[in-house]
Amino acid sequence: PKPIVAIVGRPNVGKSTLFNRVIGERLAIVEDIPGITRDRLYRETAWMEKTFLLVDTGGITGNKNDPLDVKVYNQVKLAIEEADVIWFVVDAREGLHPLDQEIADLLRKTKKPLILVGNKVDTYDPSLASEFYALGLGPPILVSAEHALNLGDLLDQTVAEF
Ligand code: GDP
Ligand code: MG
Repeated sequence: PKPIVAIVGRPNVGKSTLFNRVIGERLAIVEDIPGITRDRLYRETAWMEKTFLLVDTGGITGNKNDPLDVKVYNQVKLAIEEADVIWFVVDAREGLHPLDQEIADLLRKTKKPLILVGNKVDTYDPSLASEFYALGLGPPILVSAEHALNLGDLLDQTVAEF
């Protein structure tokens, strides 16, 4: 079976943009309106001759009262369960969000390799990484999904876990 890499995070951090960029297609819907991806979306891709399945998921909102949010959350949990590596995406430009801390707590429980991805770093600025150290997951890898910056480093780290 091929390794599975799941992309998780709160809405609007650029998960679907990252998914599309890495697979080289516009399969996932990129939207300014959160909560578009309800189910898990899979695509086979490869890096350095290592094939894997990349999975896009809907945004975790932390809202237990909205039935759609709960449905998305259940799909995220399934994606986490089946994943071999997890990309936890945060918005490095916007900074640390309370939901990021909640998601980090959830992800810490899985003993799977976790890569913290600080997205939207369209202009390289290492100082954007510092506040994410509070998550206790080590330094984020700073990328721009939109401009395809630093994705090689992310993919190198990822396939090294297989
Ligand atoms: P998702 O909800 O996490 O899947 O986020 P989307 O991929 O739908 O993106 C949400 C918004 O962030 C869209 O307006 C994207 O164009 C924008 N976005 C995604 N990645 C980047 C990036 O690297 N840089 C910038 N500036 N915007 C981005
Ligand atoms: Mg999305």
